[in-house]
Amino acid sequence: MNLLPLPALTDNYIWMLHDGRRAIVVDPGEAPPVMRVLQQLGLQLQSILVTHHHGDHVGGVDALREATGAAVYGPARERIPQPAVPLVQGDRVSALGLDFTVMDVPGHTAGHIAFFCAAVDGAPLLFCGDTLFSGGCGRLFEGTPAQMLKSLDSLAALPGNTRVCCTHEYTLANLRFARAVEPANVALIDYQGLCETLRADHLPTLPSSMALEREINPFLRVRVPAVAQSARVHEPQMTSEADAVAVLAALREWKNNFR
Ligand code: ZN
Ligand code: FE
Repeated sequence: MNLLPLPALTDNYIWMLHDGRRAIVVDPGEAPPVMRVLQQLGLQLQSILVTHHHGDHVGGVDALREATGAAVYGPARERIPQPAVPLVQGDRVSALGLDFTVMDVPGHTAGHIAFFCAAVDGAPLLFCGDTLFSGGCGRLFEGTPAQMLKSLDSLAALPGNTRVCCTHEYTLANLRFARAVEPANVALIDYQGLCETLRADHLPTLPSSMALEREINPFLRVRVPAVAQSARVHEPQMTSEADAVAVLAALREWKNNFR
């Protein structure tokens, strides 16, 4: 199975999985990058998976469906281009002979879902949309910090070797913030150096891995004392360092204003 991040729009990736004959894509914000690769590689688009309703994730759905006849799967609780198979927590999607499980991960949007497959060529794979980024998480447009914490906790509980396919190349900016939160995190310093090299060569920093994110992503580390202390220094209205929801809320607020 081949896994490709197709650059799209400003800083989106449209993830494609293909077996040399058939393909699926996740969150096509526009159609042309997908059509080009389908034609170049002679692939038939079988399915389109959608994580949430934002335009940079669904803008290419109608054109791709019309051009290829691909089936569309997406969150039951959001308005996305129709017809689409509506999905909720625990539903299964079968595509390319793979079995994806749907996870409800509200926070960025109210009905955001993620797709997890336990084994793609032997290792797990996660399509998490705008919920989890490498070194960061999505902005809370429609959900609460408590919802986002629960969603991130459910993702962080996936196996360490899970390949994490995020939909934006935000890694370097996220890591600058992560360094401000945890200046002494050695894994973070190493990873930042690696990502700077990748981006200088115009290569994606993704997919990440869940084991790495647990080591370096402040939004998965709200129960680490150094992270909670740092959050309180920058957001003094935060009352308790032991309250993981409050730490997440403070980190998100700090990040929103971080330059
Ligand atoms: Zn979004
Ligand atoms: Fe997005």
